[in-house]
Amino acid sequence: MELPHVRTLECTLCGETYDPEEIIYTCPEHEGVAGILEVKYDYDEILDRFDEELDGNIDSQWKYRAFLPVADDAAVVTLGEGGTDLLETPRLSEELGVEMRIKNDGTNPTGCFKDRASSVAVTIAREHGRDVVTCASTGNAAASLAAYAARSGLDARIFVPGDAPEGKLVQPLVYGADVLAVEGSYDEAYDLSLEVTDEYGWYNRNAAINPFQVEGKRTVGHELAEQTRGEVPDWVVFSMGDGCTIAGCWKGFSEFADLDFVEETPKMLGVQAEGASGIHDAFHEHDDVDEIADTLADSIAVGRPRNTLKACRALEESGGTAVTVTDEEILAAETLLGRSEGIYAEPAGAAPIAGIQRAVEEGIIAPDETVVAVVTGFGLKDTASAKRATDGVTSIEPTLSAVTTRYDAETESASQP
Ligand SMILES: *Cc1c(COP(=O)(O)O)cnc(C)c1O
Ligand SMILES: [Zn+2]
Repeated sequence: MELPHVRTLECTLCGETYDPEEIIYTCPEHEGVAGILEVKYDYDEILDRFDEELDGNIDSQWKYRAFLPVADDAAVVTLGEGGTDLLETPRLSEELGVEMRIKNDGTNPTGCFKDRASSVAVTIAREHGRDVVTCASTGNAAASLAAYAARSGLDARIFVPGDAPEGKLVQPLVYGADVLAVEGSYDEAYDLSLEVTDEYGWYNRNAAINPFQVEGKRTVGHELAEQTRGEVPDWVVFSMGDGCTIAGCWKGFSEFADLDFVEETPKMLGVQAEGASGIHDAFHEHDDVDEIADTLADSIAVGRPRNTLKACRALEESGGTAVTVTDEEILAAETLLGRSEGIYAEPAGAAPIAGIQRAVEEGIIAPDETVVAVVTGFGLKDTASAKRATDGVTSIEPTLSAVTTRYDAETESASQP
């Protein structure tokens, strides 16, 4: 596998560099998996390969193939990920009191932006001749990896916390994966997946330790840069679990700015749940860090975020910040998003909306600033939590009068002075 456009893998802690054509997860100079590697590119080589028009027509993330760490002759494993819409959201803007748009990444093939990373991971795993891929996941990465493994004929063996929402456990099963529900938290599932990677040599997709994963996530930044050329928002908002996604988006957006493909960069706002706020706490230098994750937003229920360093760099370099929100605020945001714009997000996908409300209240986002929120996951994956935020269905008898009683009464009460 030759990667002439990838210069090196550089340790984010000590700066040591490694050969990108070998599989290396993290820098061996540090305990555990702390030494996360960063992929460094040769942009002259990339520009030699990149001849796309930045005209807003994006069929899939592979429009930016020249920027991805795959060989020129690699057979790409794809289901059409990326190329998601950037939607005007006038009613939501009015509700939040700030001009905003939504990048709807819940429309990816498995219902989650993680497909961007899985597509790259499975392409690379196949290039390396691996036939088993693995990951630990709060749910979405598992489903996503399983789909791409199925697509390419690889076996997927995945580790999820036992209490993941049912929809997220069933989905990878349908894709034919071996799903191992670990009797414990995501953090424990994560540690176990690392052990088996060592033991069996399976290809590990865990985004924080696999340096190529963030690279796929970068394409959400490339797309946003292309889609907002001439009207770059003041803020781009993501929810944060391990922190890989916000870091990937920032890398993608800022490299397009460095190449003058887009005129400026946005500030990044990272949103975490109050009960799982490790990156927020590190960014604001709190020292009473609680490592037990407690939030219904399962995709961001991470007690020990694996990519705090890259996420904090994204917040800092962009001039952004981090906020936390409560589970009640997340659920309220989920129904607000649904009823104001017809977009159904899972809790972690709706958390940015709650974060924007918080940031506007706290004066972090000024009323005249523009905002893009990235909705990272589709709501049908977790109906149980959404149900708590709605009034439920109304049972009626199958008669016209049952309907007229309801709506005539409503019209009358509405017309009362
Ligand atoms: C994984 C996930 C996140 C968080 O991404 P990180 O890279 O862990 O910060 C947010 N939303 C959804 C829907 C996810 O699946
Ligand atoms: Zn190192």
